[in-house]
Amino acid sequence: MEAPEVHMARFDPDLDMTARPRPVAAEDVALYQRLVVNPLLTVLALLGVWTLLWNSLEVRNVYLFLASLFAGFVSLMLIQYHCLDCGRTDFILRSRRHVCPAVVHRSMTEEEPFFPPRVSSQVKAWGILFVTTLLALAIVFAPGP
Ligand SMILES: [Zn+2]
Repeated sequence: MEAPEVHMARFDPDLDMTARPRPVAAEDVALYQRLVVNPLLTVLALLGVWTLLWNSLEVRNVYLFLASLFAGFVSLMLIQYHCLDCGRTDFILRSRRHVCPAVVHRSMTEEEPFFPPRVSSQVKAWGILFVTTLLALAIVFAPGP
């Protein structure tokens, strides 16, 4: 009589997962990020651009004027984000591709963070605040009659 063959159970429910985690596309995790937008570098650059633009109008140099307009558009790329989960700071152009363990966990459990607002909403809010501040300064410092 043969001894019964002993099969070791290879599946341990405490250690093994029943299903493999699905791969997370970097573009799909934008809903689960907790990023704060920081426009400080852009504001500083725009102050320099404003000085260049004003100087180009005083000396009536069209090339300097066009260069300062170009610098104004380029300075918009200096907006940064800061991740509240891992602490990473980077330029906002790369914000949609930012994935850290907390973001992956949140995307797997499909819980969208309530705060902070999405990156696009924060950029729009900062833009509105910037334009409103410029208009207020223009009204306050406008030359009188
Ligand atoms: Zn992060």
